[in-house]
Amino acid sequence: MARFLTILLALLASGAYAADAPPPAQALIDEIAARSEMQRNLEELCDDIGPRMTGTRGLQNAQEWAMRKLAAYGASNVHLEAYDLGRPWQRGAAHARLLNANGMHLNVLQKAWTEGTRGTIRADVALLSARTMDDFNAALPRLKEKIVLAEQTPREAPRQALREAGVAAVLQVSGKSDGLQDMWGGPGQRYDSNAGIITGEHAALLRRLLARGITPRMELTLRGGFAVRPVKAHNVIADFPGSEADGDMVILGAHLDSWDLSSGANDNGAGVVTMLEVLRAMRAAGLKPRRSLRIVLFSGEEQGLLGSKAYVAAHAGELSRIQAVLVQDAGSGRILAFPDMEVEGWYGPLNSALAPAKVLGDIDVHYAKGLGSDQESFFKQGIPAFSPLQDSRNYRTHTQHSEIDTLDHIDHAGLQQAAQVTAILAWGLLNGERLPR
Ligand SMILES: [Zn+2]
Repeated sequence: MARFLTILLALLASGAYAADAPPPAQALIDEIAARSEMQRNLEELCDDIGPRMTGTRGLQNAQEWAMRKLAAYGASNVHLEAYDLGRPWQRGAAHARLLNANGMHLNVLQKAWTEGTRGTIRADVALLSARTMDDFNAALPRLKEKIVLAEQTPREAPRQALREAGVAAVLQVSGKSDGLQDMWGGPGQRYDSNAGIITGEHAALLRRLLARGITPRMELTLRGGFAVRPVKAHNVIADFPGSEADGDMVILGAHLDSWDLSSGANDNGAGVVTMLEVLRAMRAAGLKPRRSLRIVLFSGEEQGLLGSKAYVAAHAGELSRIQAVLVQDAGSGRILAFPDMEVEGWYGPLNSALAPAKVLGDIDVHYAKGLGSDQESFFKQGIPAFSPLQDSRNYRTHTQHSEIDTLDHIDHAGLQQAAQVTAILAWGLLNGERLPR
């Protein structure tokens, strides 16, 4: 009788436990709501470490920090994987000033991964706004020895055409609003020397002068350039093995590198701390997935997806084991939708994995192709690779790549929802049906 009671009580207890234990999605929501470490991690990454341009000490510091975090959150196999970066680029002083008209200093920065001006250039400014190759070719002769404000060039224009036309320098216009700077550039780009980026307002000043028949004359100094020796760049890799040894894996990715004008809070500190938080929350909630989870923190994203391209090349033999890749790289706003990459067979499994996240918002799977960050490198190999559409507010117009991508512009509520949705989706992909190739 006593033995029977003991067994009965044990059965009741286990039954009661199973009924009370929240399903995994709710456990992940609760864990992230109650004990998120994202704010603290962003402060460490952005306020302590700061800018993390690929090839710099800042990025190395961030990689060491990330590896410590991943290990502390219970990941195994935490390591760096190297690839060739070439000669790393270093920013130097930049100076630009009008020599006529109102004589103002102009907000010009050197475009990244370009050679500097080797001294100060003084030249007249000419406008290049060419939509077609005919317009472009017709404009070339009058650009010789000019500082060219390149507002529009046809995509098919030969890469070295302006250099061969003998221009003194090229200025491209910042894509940001409100006097903010912007940054881009990487190996193999169109303007590889004497190239600057000018704010929209200061480009408009030059354009107004030209429209009134006044040729702006300007001086320009760009002192950045390349280091002498080529170096390696690295991706950070970490694993949380699933119960199926040597089974498939789900990769969560974000780029740890940033541009150098600010501390890269939204681009892409937000994505990095989200992926760390997903791992932390799964472990803290005691969840063990069927498939394995791999976290990859890429570098060189800003120079042209260099890190994810290197990853795909180095892991060619195991790409078939990847169930799906999730990349977050659109700031800290809440997740609104996931593009299905216009692959018919992916819509269903993605939608069912996402279903338990619908309590966090009306999150749809859209018929769309979301490219432009590291998911692209995987998608091009036929791997199911997704990146969410986020409520980006002023991300494209203000914070991304500008001098104000700081913690002040993090959407904390949005970031929490993004981590909860990503955790739920990752859990679904780790345990649900296999996505077709
Ligand atoms: Zn980014």
